[in-house]
Amino acid sequence: MPELPEVETVRLQLLRKVIGKTIDSVEVFHNKTVAHDEVIEEKLRDKTIADIDRVGKLMIFCFESEDDLFLLAHLKMTGQFFYVGADTEVTGGGHSMTAADMDLPMKHTRVAFHFTDHTTLYFNDMRLFGYTKVVNRSEMEQAKAGFGPEPISDNFDCEWFADRLRKRKTPVKAALLDQSFIAGLGNIYVDEALWRAGVRPTRRADRVTKKEAAALCAAAGDVMKESIAVGGTTFQHFKDTGGENGNFTDYLKVFGQHGTKCPRCGGTIKKIRCAGRGTHYCPGCQK
Ligand SMILES: [Zn+2]
Repeated sequence: MPELPEVETVRLQLLRKVIGKTIDSVEVFHNKTVAHDEVIEEKLRDKTIADIDRVGKLMIFCFESEDDLFLLAHLKMTGQFFYVGADTEVTGGGHSMTAADMDLPMKHTRVAFHFTDHTTLYFNDMRLFGYTKVVNRSEMEQAKAGFGPEPISDNFDCEWFADRLRKRKTPVKAALLDQSFIAGLGNIYVDEALWRAGVRPTRRADRVTKKEAAALCAAAGDVMKESIAVGGTTFQHFKDTGGENGNFTDYLKVFGQHGTKCPRCGGTIKKIRCAGRGTHYCPGCQK
């Protein structure tokens, strides 16, 4: 599943390709992907993409001179965006792909946005959990309201974070995964951030000290910024929009490293279940 750094990587690459492009037609291959909107083409025809915003893993397409029209896009488990340029060069990302995926449209293509310059943005989604959905401003704001602040944001308030963490009685890992509390940290990054901060995932959130919360705050931002800088992690489900593997996997210290030695203390990395997720930590140096 693409996590935030992968979604951000896709967003940044698509930004370079589709800003200023005007939609000519919308070809819907599967109605579920567009929330059964039968007039999606009518709504989007002649609209020019002004920006792609993002909150958590939700991408928000904004249009020139349109204050009340947005396209929400979520890759969920297996979504992919592919942009096919005039020179038939393919730029895409999300779920992992093979050469066959790039012969577009393909069997998992759910919607195609054709631009007036004869280029196209395709949305593929094997499992059909993802979507590209036209909404008005209040629906867009409602969708955004479900997300807390992001640790990678420059104005993320670490004191607020520490304060709110102290009010939670769940394992700290569960708190960090709660997107309505803080947005953007997925399973991999939570494990990595907790390792960096030396905090055990199973610790009750209200027992994390102020100093540890500050370390966690910094670690959460850093680990995601570092991942975005190298294009995200690549497991079976992600390629960035240039069709290249992200390679943050090489930098992971605990995630997927169970049975290996902790690079900090030499202890053996353990895998358990916590907050319903496979969880990796070092019993030696995470208290
Ligand atoms: Zn350790």
